[in-house]
Amino acid sequence: MDRRQESTLDVPFTDTNTQSPSIHLTYLTLDCGMKEDRYAFLAEWYDPTAALLRRYQLFYYPKDGSVEMFDVKNQRIFLRRTKYEDLHQEDLFIGNRVNVFSRQLNLIEYGDQYTANKLGSKKERTLAVVKPDVVTKIGDVLELIYSSNLIVTKAKMTKLTWSQAADFYMEHQTKPFFNNLVQFVSSGPVVAMELMGDEAISIWRRLLGPADSAVARREAPQSVRAQFGTDGIKNVGHGSDSLAAAARELEFFFPSKIGHGPSNTAIFTDCTCCIIKPHAISEGLTGKIVNSISSAGFEISALQMFNVDRANAEEFYEVYKGVVTEYPSMVTELCSGPCMVLEIHGTDTPKSFREFCGPADPEIARHLRPTTLRALYGKDKVKNAVHCTDLAEDGVLEVQYFFKILDG
Ligand code: ADP
Ligand code: MG
Repeated sequence: MDRRQESTLDVPFTDTNTQSPSIHLTYLTLDCGMKEDRYAFLAEWYDPTAALLRRYQLFYYPKDGSVEMFDVKNQRIFLRRTKYEDLHQEDLFIGNRVNVFSRQLNLIEYGDQYTANKLGSKKERTLAVVKPDVVTKIGDVLELIYSSNLIVTKAKMTKLTWSQAADFYMEHQTKPFFNNLVQFVSSGPVVAMELMGDEAISIWRRLLGPADSAVARREAPQSVRAQFGTDGIKNVGHGSDSLAAAARELEFFFPSKIGHGPSNTAIFTDCTCCIIKPHAISEGLTGKIVNSISSAGFEISALQMFNVDRANAEEFYEVYKGVVTEYPSMVTELCSGPCMVLEIHGTDTPKSFREFCGPADPEIARHLRPTTLRALYGKDKVKNAVHCTDLAEDGVLEVQYFFKILDG
């Protein structure tokens, strides 16, 4: 299909030259004199037809969940104020990618001081590392993270070498426990995550609890270390302790220069590929889904979050093109926000894992196989919580697509 046609399909964008009368106002004043909240962002959209980055002011009205877009260069309304249920206030933060009527918009900056103060003032990013002792309980940890109003914006399972772990813990070089700590952290896979939210640094450290798990059980029995930790070394996780440490430690695991961070743990044999779809991530279901997968006895041998471009989503789903009527919507869903990709390892996993995911249509799944992932977490045929490899022989190829090609 011609991309120009595709991008304007069903979309109430306007071609008029109407100037936006309200564009520089922070509030809209309604007839009754009440003020209505309006959040403003600067957003970029890559227009594949023109091979251009286009800039828009994006407005979000929380009262009725409507959006409006203003073309910055041409100074005209691009999208009239329209209700759009797939965009949520929680998705509106700088650095995130959101989907507005099939356009993936990168949120670059807050559009005004009011929005920055209201939505951005306390937003922080921090590094969380789930240490080797509880990687198998990653679902539980994710559930706690989401229930504390933090969201995961990056994630990668990796196995550090001794020297990488020593570099990471450089500040503890002179401590008596340094060797044991480095040995432990490099003894198995860890999951590094970027967490985002209001006061993320202190919230995650409070969630972890005191460093010594025994002390945690005494002083903070609800904390992660109290619940899952063993002692002072095997203490579940790491959390940055300041803004500066967070910036440095995030750069260690998620360097801005692609391909320079610690590598993923994919093994590319006897495996199948599971993608937790963007809608499920944005609904906060990540922990529950990962938990269901582990509780059913499946081994997660690699895990990583990806922001998939439209071109890559089209390529990944190529085999469904012309075969499945939902193909275009599947592509749109996959690139509408971050997704989490898992390598599930074990003999015969492509078959057994596909059965565990259930029929592609969640409505049918709820009738026929009510305990499957799609029955539990899916909404419709496109937003059906997870993708899983269809054909056994494609398992390795799909895992390679993400963990070899896109993580290159
Ligand atoms: P936190 O992880 O809470 O920031 P620290 O930065 O003080 O704690 O220490 C880093 C890690 O070193 C701890 O998470 C723990 O695994 C280990 N550690 C700290 N203190 C001790 C100790 N006294 N004995 C053994 N291990 C320790
Ligand atoms: Mg520390």
